[in-house]
Amino acid sequence: MPRDYYEVLGVDREADETTIKKSFRRLARELHPDVNAHDPEAEEKFKEAAEAYEVLSDAERRRTYDAYGHEGLKSGGFSPNFEGFGSISDLFSAFFGQGGGFDSAFGGTRMRGGAVQGGDVGLAVAITLGEAASGTSVEVSYDATASCETCHGNGAEPGTPIVTCDRCNGAGQIQAVQRTRFGQMVRTALCDKCGGDGRIAEQPCHTCDGRGMVAGARRVKVDIPAGIDDGQRLRFTGRGHAGERGGPAGDLYVVVRVKEDERFIRDREDLATVIDVAAPLAALGTTIQVPTLDGDVPLDVPAGTQPGETIVMSGRGLPPLGRGRTGDLRVVINVVIPRRLNRKQRDLLEELASSLSEDNLREPEGMLAKLKRALAG
Ligand SMILES: [Zn+2]
Ligand SMILES: [Zn+2]
Repeated sequence: MPRDYYEVLGVDREADETTIKKSFRRLARELHPDVNAHDPEAEEKFKEAAEAYEVLSDAERRRTYDAYGHEGLKSGGFSPNFEGFGSISDLFSAFFGQGGGFDSAFGGTRMRGGAVQGGDVGLAVAITLGEAASGTSVEVSYDATASCETCHGNGAEPGTPIVTCDRCNGAGQIQAVQRTRFGQMVRTALCDKCGGDGRIAEQPCHTCDGRGMVAGARRVKVDIPAGIDDGQRLRFTGRGHAGERGGPAGDLYVVVRVKEDERFIRDREDLATVIDVAAPLAALGTTIQVPTLDGDVPLDVPAGTQPGETIVMSGRGLPPLGRGRTGDLRVVINVVIPRRLNRKQRDLLEELASSLSEDNLREPEGMLAKLKRALAG
């Protein structure tokens, strides 16, 4: 059963066209397979969002869907037609049209004057919990296009002329007729020979084959701020693929994975850990060593500490990513009852047990007393 289209796009049923478009753009950018290399389902999710957008952005299809749901669309002859497009970027231009102003999620945005913003690059890095707490910098390597140095990006062999494109006669666009279930649609597509420029190099540059760009490995040091959480994404403006025809470069997105630290459970800035304390020591009071992000720290466990009691070590958590206070470390005391007693231990415990009175087991302040105090206060 396909999911509800409104739910897929995260909009309510009254959402207007702009809201729907915005929401799809946001999703499309999130689900970009580059950025989502770690998520094999991203492309499926993207298709789901695209299908929802295809229906909800069309007034008639949307009315049918509102009235009759998925079944209504099917019996009305609708089936998602994006499968027929070759690539996601084709799909994208079909949705928003050439120069639809989509902010470079799919390998470049066409801008005024034929300039194209470079595509974004996405990658993931893994850091430890300690690095997340202190902040760190990580060197990442990736392949990205850069302007060709031989032809300075114009694609022509140095000293040779640039001429009008013979396929589009300099218009930069060609008309493509596309058959769909709703009839023929004329789609204006960019000229594939000149890439929309209207002009081509008479003799293509030997370094870049006339593309004006070359792919190369890049190493970049990226700073990861203290307090970052697992799965958060950082954007580094202008570190992506080079733009074309004077367009700006794309961005680099880095998804930060914070490796699990088996000693701690993390909840945003706060940490929790569990320490075993033998029952007699919990009764007598003791000092334990607690692991923190800055190494082991001694902690006093007061006499009479009960199983599951929590002692808060203030400020021993992680710093906040933005403003706010540093988190705490909550130490849960796991009182362990001794097992496999030897003869002597048995005798001692029997002596202890027979000496216990009601007073040893009573809570210092009973539930009822606590409640009374709370109500009186
Ligand atoms: Zn070149
Ligand atoms: Zn052309």
